[in-house]
Amino acid sequence: MKYVVIHYHELALKGRNRDFFERRLIQNIRSSLRDLHVMRVESLRSRIRITLPPEADDRQVVDRLRRVFGIANFSFAEAVELDLGNPNLDVLAGRIGDALVHRMFESFRVTARRADKRLALTSMDVERTVGAYLHRVTGKKVRLKNPDLTVYIHLLTKEAYFSLDKIEGPGGMPVGVSGAVACLISGGIDSPVAAYRMMKRGCNAVFIHFSGRPLVSRASEEKVRELVQMLTAYQYRSKLYVVPFGTIQREIVAQAPAPYRVVLYRRLMVRIAGELAQREKCWGLVTGDSLGQVASQTPENLTVIEEAAELPILRPLIGMDKMEITRQAEHIGTFTISIEPDEDCCSLFTPPHPSTRTRIDDIRRIERSFDIGGLIKQGVDAAEPSEFTFPPRHAPTPSS
Ligand code: ATP
Ligand code: MG
Repeated sequence: MKYVVIHYHELALKGRNRDFFERRLIQNIRSSLRDLHVMRVESLRSRIRITLPPEADDRQVVDRLRRVFGIANFSFAEAVELDLGNPNLDVLAGRIGDALVHRMFESFRVTARRADKRLALTSMDVERTVGAYLHRVTGKKVRLKNPDLTVYIHLLTKEAYFSLDKIEGPGGMPVGVSGAVACLISGGIDSPVAAYRMMKRGCNAVFIHFSGRPLVSRASEEKVRELVQMLTAYQYRSKLYVVPFGTIQREIVAQAPAPYRVVLYRRLMVRIAGELAQREKCWGLVTGDSLGQVASQTPENLTVIEEAAELPILRPLIGMDKMEITRQAEHIGTFTISIEPDEDCCSLFTPPHPSTRTRIDDIRRIERSFDIGGLIKQGVDAAEPSEFTFPPRHAPTPSS
């Protein structure tokens, strides 16, 4: 049997909510490893233990766990039985010695943690005894600062786990503990990063995309589907609504002065998305706005767009510049998809000189000439939902 021991820290700070967070994290770990023959995932006194069959593919396990928010770090571990009253460390030290035989290192340290204070030995006793043994059998130096190798020991009541490599997790909070939010996703670089950041704070993302259909091709929709599939690796199930927006935009173009179009589109998007969000029990709308980046993101225009929303609009990228956002998109892996050329609804009818300082009174006056309620209904009724899962479900093999 193989074990992975998972360490979370942010959760540990959450006091009374801790059980809730931990349960959610365990559930998410199970979902992320669903197809990898995991035997058990269980709580282990401020750690989580995964039990894997010997044939499990370590690389795949690492790849999955690196995307489970809430994990601070994790390591493959071996278990050794302990006697609480009379813990004989010889067996533990011997097993660690065996595990080090093929390791290249010059210096090492032992870091022990004791989950059960009834254990007759302190963490420091364990570090000293095991360290002295390893020094004797390997001839390597003990170095407490910046050693080549750290041996981690986690002591429980009847057993100890040791591991040699700590793998960094993504940090953050388990998806689901912060409710659901509706993410407006465009196919550009910014909005997938905005969704990622909210998921990392524990939110489940429901995605909404406004396509220029029927006036443009489905290119932007295909891109958005790819992006949503990629982001689903962090939350295991996603829903995407595609709203055909071309006809609505054409109506705005026919009746509204050109400089106001962008803000009018955005106010309609926010209202349609708001209806879908409430249907999905989301508490907020998320956009990839970054202050001052384009005409729709000036302080004045953001304020006027916000006014049309009933739910709070969350803008996790508001204070980031394009370089920082791009770096994050590269890190997540969405960048290469986002830069494929496409045409979403924003490329339709965008005026050459949009107003950057729109006043709410002007917008209200212009909106009076539209049947806003009718346009919202048109968008909501035409919204097409689809579902995504991760790990992707394999298509059933056709029977011969
Ligand atoms: P992005 O790179 O995310 O497209 P952007 O810099 O191009 O952002 P805008 O086009 O002004 O900026 O869009 C601002 C935000 O409005 C986007 O981040 C996204 O959340 C939302 N948005 C814009 N267009 C769409 C769309 N077609 N469908 C859904 N949401 C959109
Ligand atoms: Mg855009």
